[in-house]
Amino acid sequence: MTLPDYAIEVKGLIKTYPATKTTPQMQALKGIDLQIPRGSIFGLLGPNGAGKSTLINILAGLTKKTSGSVKIWDRDIDERPRDARAAIGVVPQEISVDPFFTPRESLEVQAGMYGVPAAERRTMELLNALGLGDKANAYVRQLSGGMKRRLMVAKAMTHNPPVLILDEPTAGVDVELRRQLWRYVLELNGRGVTIVLTTHYLEEAQELCDQIAIINRGQVVACEPTTTLLRRMDTRAVVVTPETPLEAAPALAGFDTKLRAGGAFQVTYRTGQSSVEQVLAAVRAAGLHIKDIATEDPDLEDVFVSLTTQAPAAEPAKV
Ligand code: ADP
Ligand code: MG
Repeated sequence: MTLPDYAIEVKGLIKTYPATKTTPQMQALKGIDLQIPRGSIFGLLGPNGAGKSTLINILAGLTKKTSGSVKIWDRDIDERPRDARAAIGVVPQEISVDPFFTPRESLEVQAGMYGVPAAERRTMELLNALGLGDKANAYVRQLSGGMKRRLMVAKAMTHNPPVLILDEPTAGVDVELRRQLWRYVLELNGRGVTIVLTTHYLEEAQELCDQIAIINRGQVVACEPTTTLLRRMDTRAVVVTPETPLEAAPALAGFDTKLRAGGAFQVTYRTGQSSVEQVLAAVRAAGLHIKDIATEDPDLEDVFVSLTTQAPAAEPAKV
């Protein structure tokens, strides 16, 4: 049997949540196209509300899509829903474990649900790999939040799927656990498991992922190898306080400007293209006297906005 090139292929995926008594209709996904290479660690990066969990939940078969197509391990989720689901393990964003089971029972039940024969179950191996070996017979309600999350990772792997999806796996998780989790994820990836994780932390995606798709407001605004993406994320801002407070942002040749509180303004520039020196020269050329300046890293939201509005930077033709 030949293996698919892509662990997951999503085409034109749209999700509209219907209106409720208190909320209007909401288009959470506005036509997502994604190809996640087999064997990669793929990051879905985006701010809260971007649509990451909606996408993951559709992949997991927990949420119904409105339209578009999804293939997991070459299995269309409409045509072969069971086969598609068998190919992925999903660790949802919300912790949900049955408080009346022990971790061992919890994994056995999960394996049973996936029809894994008793002889092929790897309950203790999984518990040990996630540092829960000594808690195998404890009640789940006695575990810490971090232990519960690790148990959810173990549960997601009981049927030994070729793709593991983690939705915000380190939200509210301490540093030590984060490391342990990443060690396990890297080990799985080393054994050929494709990993998809969502995060709203750039550093996390940057550290782990081979490739990153940035999602904002239900759309993919960038999808490229991590190193390429980081080169594009070189936006910086200089905040200038002029001697005389301004009422509108000044027009500066070659730079975007925005008014700030107290009559100050910010100038954004790309480190690969210009320098603070050039920004200040442009400010002086506009006849403004500078009282104070400060430089700032952009927040992720600014980067998303600039990525949605700017044309991709020219890249040397190599992959
Ligand atoms: P993320 O995981 O990136 O934070 P979500 O997929 O959770 O984003 O949410 C995307 C958008 O869809 C948000 O505006 C959210 O309020 C909305 N949304 C999510 N789940 C539901 C739901 N069950 N019903 C209605 N709207 C929802
Ligand atoms: Mg989410």
